[in-house]
Amino acid sequence: MNEAALRELTLSVVDQVGLDAPEVDFRSALWDAGLARVQFPVGKGGLELSPSMQGAVEKAIRDAGRSFAALSINTIGIGMGLPTVLTYGSDEHHDKHLKKIFTGEDFWCQMFSEPSHGSDVAGLSSRAVRDGDEWIVNGQKVWTSGAHHARFGMLLVRTDPDVPKHKGLSYFILDMHSPGVEIRPLFQITGNAEFNEVFFTDVRVPHSNLLGAVGDGWRVATTTLMNERVALGGSTAPRGSGNISMLMKLWEKRAPELDVTERRVMSDRVMKLWIEAEVGRLTTIRGRSNSVMGNPGPEGSVGKLASAELNIRIWNCCMDLLGDEGMLHEPGYPMNRDSNRADWSYSKFFLRSQANTIEGGTSDIMRNILGERVLGLPGEPRVDKAIPWTDIPA
Ligand SMILES: Cc1cc2nc3c(=O)[nH]c(=O)nc-3n(C[C@H](O)[C@H](O)[C@H](O)COP(=O)(O)OP(=O)(O)OC[C@H]3O[C@@H](n4cnc5c(N)ncnc54)[C@H](O)[C@@H]3O)c2cc1C
Repeated sequence: MNEAALRELTLSVVDQVGLDAPEVDFRSALWDAGLARVQFPVGKGGLELSPSMQGAVEKAIRDAGRSFAALSINTIGIGMGLPTVLTYGSDEHHDKHLKKIFTGEDFWCQMFSEPSHGSDVAGLSSRAVRDGDEWIVNGQKVWTSGAHHARFGMLLVRTDPDVPKHKGLSYFILDMHSPGVEIRPLFQITGNAEFNEVFFTDVRVPHSNLLGAVGDGWRVATTTLMNERVALGGSTAPRGSGNISMLMKLWEKRAPELDVTERRVMSDRVMKLWIEAEVGRLTTIRGRSNSVMGNPGPEGSVGKLASAELNIRIWNCCMDLLGDEGMLHEPGYPMNRDSNRADWSYSKFFLRSQANTIEGGTSDIMRNILGERVLGLPGEPRVDKAIPWTDIPA
């Protein structure tokens, strides 16, 4: 199928389901027609086409007059859960989970990070011990985005402490409603608690929820992480949209109030950021058009690193344009569990952007990955790589 035929198919599906269909019905129709992830197998949300053709589907939907955010309804589920379950799950896992992840009916979270193991996630210490057809999980995760909404989670735990750290991990799908799962909010500098601490006390997980083999959790986790960097790393949305559009709106409002010198300086800065945002967008489009079937590799870290650093520069520039006003917050600095981003002030976006260079792997880690795995530079010393996990000093 070529792009023109794909566009026709998309427009006919949109026409059938109706432009005003509820989100779940709309996404369900896309899934059934193979338009959810065109590179996925036929019957599982795809048409076995090149992933570069997904953009044609999204453009056709927008051209038909429906706003469509491919990921944000369930970013972790769609961006990371879908490819991981597709790659390592059984047919039963596929039937149970894939479509509901895409439609947003089942929200997913990712439980990798622990209090002492974020960048060094392979060193984590939450344990799962086998008990017949089940595993018993004890331990703690942290920074778990959206755990309070999640129906299922991607859980990485240690199943063998006596082998080197990367070799003793296993990866499970966790039903977040299982007895023994406790979720506590962590409030961020924004005043919201998007993420959580998650505690496990004798949580029973069926063996059938294992993804990959016992002890092969690092390989499965790597698939999740590579997809995470692509999901966080840039967008092919229309030119000038997203964060940069917020800066442009503010620039139009503030520019007339600046004196000549300030206006010249700030106009250079705004223009430079607009160009960087456009270069990032075009690079993402080029990357997607070169992408092949299967999961992404370490090159996904390029977009993640560049977009995280750019976001911070964009919101810094907004703060400078606002001057003193940028320090104002809603009265009382409300602490809410969740809030609607459509209502966020510039200062709140500025505060939230600080997390961009941490979430999904820090910028330092992205540079390490790019240096070692893309540019082939010598790796950093890893003294604990070959020794049993139990012998690594805590
Ligand atoms: C908003 C947000 C949402 C998140 N959501 C999730 C989630 O849903 N699920 C989840 O599992 N995790 C989540 N995380 C956690 C995130 O993945 C970790 O915070 C991140 O990997 C860094 O780990 P850490 O916080 O333990 O910092 P550390 O690993 O302790 O790092 C501290 C500092 O040391 C640097 N550093 C560490 N190791 C190296 C090295 N080898 N080379 C160079 N520098 C290094 C880091 O760059 C950083 O500056 C989220 C984080 C944020 C901020």
